[in-house]
Amino acid sequence: MTRPCNGCGKCCMNMRQYIRIGNQSSDGRFSCECTLTKEKFQARVSSKDTARMFDRNFQFRYPKACPFLVLGEGDTFSCLIYNDRPGHCRSFLCSHCKEEEEENK
Ligand code: SF4
Ligand code: SF4
Repeated sequence: MTRPCNGCGKCCMNMRQYIRIGNQSSDGRFSCECTLTKEKFQARVSSKDTARMFDRNFQFRYPKACPFLVLGEGDTFSCLIYNDRPGHCRSFLCSHCKEEEEENK
């Protein structure tokens, strides 16, 4: 079942301190760590999206946001590494999504 995420971005807004980015390999993979769980993971980002990651305007506006969070069309946020995101992010269920899931049971 797809989670009813509305893309508000709140769950990723204070994650910069917990998602650490290390080296980037030649094929575009970043070596990363989720410091909350100590999980090390690899995240692949295209060169176009890498530029979005380091967008200074975004960083100025959202200084505590996860480095992989970006703002898309319709003012909704999304994760650039959704398929590669760490376990902490995979298992997190926000109150909005939880309520929606309860209502749809
Ligand atoms: S998971 Fe929840 S808090 Fe995170 S973007 Fe979606 S609706 Fe917002
Ligand atoms: S890796 Fe993705 S889901 Fe996890 S905090 Fe960053 S933007 Fe959010």
